[in-house]
Amino acid sequence: MRAGQWFALSVGLLVIVAVVGTIASVVALGRLANARVQLADRLDPGAIAAADLKGAVVDQETGIRGYALAAQPQFLAPYDRGRAEAADAARRLRALAGSEALRPLRGRLEEVLARARDWQTRYAEPAKRQLAAGAVLARRPESIAAGKRRFDAFRVAFTAFTTPLDSARLAARARLDDSAATVQRWVIGTGIVILLTVIAAALILRNVLVQPLLRLAARVRGVASGSFSEPVAGSGAREVVELGQDVDAMRGRIVAELDALRVVEQDLQRSNQELEQFAYVASHDLQEPLRKVASFSQLLQQRYGGRLDERADQYIAFAVDGARRMQTLINDLLAFSRVGRLEQPHGDVDCKELVERVRADLATAIEESGATIEAGPLPTVHGDAGLLRIVFQNLIGNAIKFRGEAPPEVRVGATRDGEWWAFRCEDNGIGIDPEYADRIFVIFQRLHSRATYEGTGIGLAMCRKIVEYHGGRMWLDAEHRSGSAFCFTLRARPEDP
Ligand code: ADP
Repeated sequence: MRAGQWFALSVGLLVIVAVVGTIASVVALGRLANARVQLADRLDPGAIAAADLKGAVVDQETGIRGYALAAQPQFLAPYDRGRAEAADAARRLRALAGSEALRPLRGRLEEVLARARDWQTRYAEPAKRQLAAGAVLARRPESIAAGKRRFDAFRVAFTAFTTPLDSARLAARARLDDSAATVQRWVIGTGIVILLTVIAAALILRNVLVQPLLRLAARVRGVASGSFSEPVAGSGAREVVELGQDVDAMRGRIVAELDALRVVEQDLQRSNQELEQFAYVASHDLQEPLRKVASFSQLLQQRYGGRLDERADQYIAFAVDGARRMQTLINDLLAFSRVGRLEQPHGDVDCKELVERVRADLATAIEESGATIEAGPLPTVHGDAGLLRIVFQNLIGNAIKFRGEAPPEVRVGATRDGEWWAFRCEDNGIGIDPEYADRIFVIFQRLHSRATYEGTGIGLAMCRKIVEYHGGRMWLDAEHRSGSAFCFTLRARPEDP
């Protein structure tokens, strides 16, 4: 499944649980409120009013009895108070009897009130009047018994009314408790389900998205750092699986391109080797016949110079010069094609010392041009001292050769860059147009005529070949203004910090 589907599933579940829980809680709360209204506003006040009624009627009976015994009017006070209270309780009960909770007991209530009225009008009031007229009730036991009968009838009716009333109160209380428990159950249940859903969603998210992504990221980092052989596969959510497939397709492309590149590289290497072989063989084999041409044209010049006419002397001079130049070119080409061909033992090379030796070699040029060569602290590297010396010789030689008006100032320095030493040779000479930054490193490519500056155009090509043979890179700093700056790198020795 897609991560989005997992997400939708979790959210859907949460919404369903929340909606169901809320509806159920609202219904249970409604029942709770209803039960509370029944109990607190109807049944309980009904029970209180019934108790008040009974108390008031008993007070009346006590008042009449006291009056009958003591024959003093102040004993009638409870009777009068009881009448008022009974009227009040009856009014309250009637008002409540209209409600749904008490409606079934209406008949019984009327019976209670009728019995109370009956006792009052048929016994209490006549007895009160007779007593007021001086009668002695004790002398009329039949009247007292009739009063008692009527009062007992009131009691019976009262019990018949309060018994179902108490039952209704108990039932309402039970409904109240039940509704409260239901609300509690739904709230707790919904909370637990939501919590579980959230935990489950978090676990699912972790298992189908976060962890598979972390695993995939680790594999992608592996590919980025060059481990192309192992296939990449995503797990968990469909998006991650698809991403894994895309990354694997990318890896496949890289592998295919690398293979193609390797083939091209091998071809290139082979053709380079053939070319070098050809240059070497050609220059080597040309040396011998050329030496012959050169030495015989020199002999010709020595023996017959001045004996032929002026034009012949000139031709011979051209031939001698051409042969000499050709020898220089061929020697340079031979030296160039020998770089890396003759494996000289590599050792520790103190670059500072190399520069000092080059300074000595170029002493005449330095003196003539008034050049200053400033060499900063230079490292010791591992390499072929003879070849590395050629690099410094060419760079410093060029810096002096291609000088401007001012006396040349050459600065050679090196800084550490990770595993490499970055060398830099700067001068204040005529400078090089950045457009030619690559061309100057091509063999026999020159930017000036021989008449302006001597040279064969092999120096920088040789320097780059030597640096690359040592594993480094060489380039012209095209940003550098006022003169030129050449940079090259050589691997630092592992023991150098
Ligand atoms: P060469 O010195 O024999 O001409 P190089 O291969 O050493 O051959 O240099 C190639 C060309 O690069 C030079 O002809 C010159 O135009 C340019 N060049 C090299 N070094 C410098 C420099 N320090 N300042 C200006 N131009 C330079």
